[in-house]
Amino acid sequence: MRTIDHVIAGGAGGGGTRSGEVFDPNTGQVQARVTLGVQADLDRAVAAAQGAQPGWAAVNPQRRARVMFRFKELVEANMDALAHLLSSEHGKVIADSKGDIQRGLEVIEFCCGIPHVLKGEYTQGAGPGIDVYSMRQPLGIGAGITPFNFPAMIPMWMFGVAIATGNAFILKPSERDPSVPVRLAELMLEAGAPAGILQVVHGDKEMVDAILDHPAIAAVSFVGSSDIAHYVYRRGVEAGKRVQAMGGAKNHGIVMPDADLDQVVADLAGAAFGSAGERCMALPVVVPVGDRTAEALREKLIPAIAALRVGVSTDAEAHYGPVVNAAHKSRVENWIQTGVDEGAELVVDGRGFTLQGHEQGFFVGPSLFDRVTPQMQSYKEEIFGPVLQIVRAPDFETAVRLPSEHQYGNGVAIFTRNGHAAREFAARVNVGMVGINVPIPVPVAYHSFGGWKRSAFGDTNQHGMEGVKFWTKVKTITQRWPDGTAELPRGAEDGGPARVQDAFVIPTMG
Ligand code: NAD
Repeated sequence: MRTIDHVIAGGAGGGGTRSGEVFDPNTGQVQARVTLGVQADLDRAVAAAQGAQPGWAAVNPQRRARVMFRFKELVEANMDALAHLLSSEHGKVIADSKGDIQRGLEVIEFCCGIPHVLKGEYTQGAGPGIDVYSMRQPLGIGAGITPFNFPAMIPMWMFGVAIATGNAFILKPSERDPSVPVRLAELMLEAGAPAGILQVVHGDKEMVDAILDHPAIAAVSFVGSSDIAHYVYRRGVEAGKRVQAMGGAKNHGIVMPDADLDQVVADLAGAAFGSAGERCMALPVVVPVGDRTAEALREKLIPAIAALRVGVSTDAEAHYGPVVNAAHKSRVENWIQTGVDEGAELVVDGRGFTLQGHEQGFFVGPSLFDRVTPQMQSYKEEIFGPVLQIVRAPDFETAVRLPSEHQYGNGVAIFTRNGHAAREFAARVNVGMVGINVPIPVPVAYHSFGGWKRSAFGDTNQHGMEGVKFWTKVKTITQRWPDGTAELPRGAEDGGPARVQDAFVIPTMG
């Protein structure tokens, strides 16, 4: 059986004694084992990073950008193979896997412009003969801990910006679909990044804790579920690190009475059920305003859901594939039962779904609930599966209040033809990313990604200028150059450097 190993110091990590199972969600079979690393593996990665980072930081940013250009070309050249590998471990359909890779590549494209972005600020004549300027310097060694649901995009959000700004980066990907992150690290080496600049250590809580406690790691970026995000944030900050930790979500789509319902239904089919609902920007709650809107929406949703095709991840006609593993399948089905027990109306039941020829695969059919209320546990918590909940709102005020008061505040959307309603909603809603007639408002790479409330701990977003801020620290220089010719230092004959330039050792790229 294939073993998925770390990538440390430019090569394989040498295996280990602990390992985890990697499933093919389409068949339910174990297809590989992943090494689960320990402290000693991390120590080796940190040593390699410490060796490589000063030279990498000293390389001019244009040359670092050229590595990004080459990496982008290599990922594009390998797109099909990467997408198939991703789908085989995650279960999302090939088109979604390509989207996963493409959205990550867009951050790499942003990083190709890093010389421009790293330019500092300058004030001439801040005082008599005094100039002030600032520069952004890398933190040193950064680490990323990523979830299973976007195994290409989220690592690239992090390592693209971290590396382009001159850091070394250690990635701890999800142990459920670890192969694509390994391939990305191999391609980064091929693109010309020195060994030690992008490394991958696999593992579970043991490796995460080792990262959080390691004194040589300056910053940790985390994306995953909220309880773990909060834990990572607390423990990392306690250890003196810079931490950003993105958590779970429960995004709402508000449907105003004037919305184009056919468009809304088409959008919801993708946003609620695409990728089996395993997206932090999925739209699992729809809030029609007024009973007339609710009835009309429900009537159109039922046939649209019946038309959804659930299939294996290589089925080009399938809307979505299996969920990631058996435990997650039962978790989603348990939430459906909870919804029923709480008194919501189960309009379409996706439980008990099997795909002929793939009876052991982790498939869940699409489900629709109506008359869900904010008091229900199944509304308050993230289900992360192909389940859409209708929460009816009597008016606009209630529709603004629902997502605003929810514990999560990642994304939200409003569907309307009325500019005033949309504008009011965007200004008032207590959520980090807002779509106006856009169901999944993931900002483009040169803006930044991040939710509010329990969807994100820390104060900077992912990628764009926020990412650059997270992965760099600002140094501000106040300079004054007196008139006259500089004199050579006296006393060099006593053992100090004879010339000024002899006092420096310039680091070089290893
Ligand atoms: P997860 O929290 O189970 O795992 C995320 C990472 O944490 C993995 O690398 C995992 O190995 C590690 N981990 C797991 N248990 C741990 C523990 N007890 N201690 C320390 N580390 C631990 O999340 P997941 O199931 O892989 O991903 C789905 C979740 O991620 C959903 O909640 C989803 O909303 C969220 N998510 C959020 C965003 C965002 O940007 N806000 C993006 C994608 C996914």
